[in-house]
Amino acid sequence: MRKNIVAGNWKMNLTRDEGLLLVEQVLGNLPKQNTQVVFAPNYLSLYKIGKMCNNYENVKVAAQNCSRDSKGAFTGEVSAEMIASCSVDYVIIGHSERRAEFKESNAVLAEKVNRALENNLKVIFCCGESLSQREEMAYLDWIKQQLVESVFHLSAEQIKEIVIAYEPIWAIGTGKTASTEQAQEMHAFIRNLLAEKYGEQVAVNTSILYGGSCNPSNAKGLFAQQDIDGGLIGGASLNAADFLAIINAF
Ligand code: PEP
Repeated sequence: MRKNIVAGNWKMNLTRDEGLLLVEQVLGNLPKQNTQVVFAPNYLSLYKIGKMCNNYENVKVAAQNCSRDSKGAFTGEVSAEMIASCSVDYVIIGHSERRAEFKESNAVLAEKVNRALENNLKVIFCCGESLSQREEMAYLDWIKQQLVESVFHLSAEQIKEIVIAYEPIWAIGTGKTASTEQAQEMHAFIRNLLAEKYGEQVAVNTSILYGGSCNPSNAKGLFAQQDIDGGLIGGASLNAADFLAIINAF
């Protein structure tokens, strides 16, 4: 059966000390439940936080990105192999900020997905539409294209290592959340695409997370939806009390 997951994407926030304190506060107050908790700090804190979480079966660590290349002369890049050597479980691929700021195309993201899987990293793969695409009713086709071009080349065995995060761009960091109906519609659509491509078993076992201004007030309503299996949380993951409240929303 698929897992419920609450993942905190810290983006380029929190110094090393601030990050370690946050992790300590969350680990010290974790509820006894089956929700998997994921921390996605910057690269510099991955190893230390990975070690801190090692003894917690349901706590995992994610990198926020990885290189499309395996190794070589790519100054400033970090490979999936390097990430995997630091007690890391996941890598986030396809976040809208990387697509927009770093011009990462669906084809580049497909290469990153491949590098991650080659190194036994699971992937949190992000997809999402802009406000104009939603208003023009082009959002379903857009999400399908993102998945087809970056993920659907994988085999049925490989796709089991993918968690999908639906993150409407218009809801990220804006305080504007998708309604429970809008989010559920998209999650059901994504699960249906998985079923068409890989069969019902894969579809029911894939975790699909919602991301976009998820907070302690709206998490319960979102997580109660049939096809929403948790959240990828930005701003609200930077504060232990808010992050714990979201984890407790299941
Ligand atoms: C995100 O960036 O993945 C995100 C969901 O951010 P926020 O929760 O701040 O909207």
